[in-house]
Amino acid sequence: TSLFDGLTEQPSDTLLGLISAFRSDPRPGKIDLGVGVYRDNEGRTPVLRAVKESERRLVEGQLTKAYLGAEGDVGFVEALMPVIFGLQPYGARLCGLQTPGGTGALRLAAELIARARPGARVWLGTPTWPNHSQIMASAHLAIEEYPHFDVTTQRLRFDRVMAAIEAANAGDVLLLHGCCHNPTGADFDDSQWIAIARAMASRGVLPLIDLAYQGLGRGLEEDVAGVRATLDIVGEGFIAYSCDKNFGLYRERVGALYALSRSTGQAGIVQSNLLALARANWSMPPDHGAAIVRIILEDATLAADWRTELSDMACRMREIRTLLAQAKANLAPIAHQQGMFSTLPLTPMMVARLRDEQRVYLPSSGRINIAGLTRDTVPAFVRALLWLA
Ligand code: PLP
Repeated sequence: TSLFDGLTEQPSDTLLGLISAFRSDPRPGKIDLGVGVYRDNEGRTPVLRAVKESERRLVEGQLTKAYLGAEGDVGFVEALMPVIFGLQPYGARLCGLQTPGGTGALRLAAELIARARPGARVWLGTPTWPNHSQIMASAHLAIEEYPHFDVTTQRLRFDRVMAAIEAANAGDVLLLHGCCHNPTGADFDDSQWIAIARAMASRGVLPLIDLAYQGLGRGLEEDVAGVRATLDIVGEGFIAYSCDKNFGLYRERVGALYALSRSTGQAGIVQSNLLALARANWSMPPDHGAAIVRIILEDATLAADWRTELSDMACRMREIRTLLAQAKANLAPIAHQQGMFSTLPLTPMMVARLRDEQRVYLPSSGRINIAGLTRDTVPAFVRALLWLA
């Protein structure tokens, strides 16, 4: 007998399959809307200018590769705080540490929740990033799903969010996307955020906010208005942050987890538990990407250039959203959605026909990466959708 007899084959990542199918398709004019990274108008995912310069300085200036601690690069964790929380952070009630990407931050938050409150349930609005439920399940947390968005009507189900909070127990956790919802692009407006936060505060529900796309929606400040209001109102919660999209650092795995506690004493205990969990998971996070971000944020010129390039990326995606909305009546809601993704009401059969007969690649969920389109390819994509109808 083998130890491995107890294992069953796991499904492979469907997006990876899609990427290789796209690559091996010889047809000219093929369109890839599946990939989960930003692309410019030439279809490239370049290293940002500020990242290139910061990396050059890092390589030249770094004198040692000796270990840092489980908290990672403390300068990085602190330099991000004003970007996320504004100039009035929460003093010593806020603690944080560097993590391997937003994924690591979510995993650590989940493990801390499971340790602090083993019976807590995590409420997930669907559709959501598929890894959310896997991460929560891996930390042995119970998951409750509710519909966040109606794909057919392209409407946010705000009523269902409020109903979920109503149905939650005190001590349960509500996982929210800070901005640029993946995969629907449907974000809450300011008054909805406040209503959600007030309901969470009165029910004793804790926010776990996944913030993976700050600056890729309405703007760096605008994208976190809801996050800040929620933390102000609830007074406690987690921010699982990723720099992998807004700094274009994807494979470098740059993220951070912040926890806001009700008192500074509690924050110290929370931080000590987060460090202990980090040590048991990865000991310490990979350094390179976080050091790049720290150097950018600590240098006014590099930071300004990063903001410009980030805002250019967001502008480009807004332009594509506007072009789609103008080209086809039922794509109009896309102009009001934010960030890199929207989800179209397509069946898996329709998605397969788009791929086989129209050279348009997207996952069977109907999610499209807006940045997979350019001004030049929007008309072909819209023609493919019309052909389908
Ligand atoms: N959260 C959401 C909603 C995402 O879409 C992603 C990445 O696709 C992540 C978190 C994880 O980001 P990272 O690559 O930094 O782990």
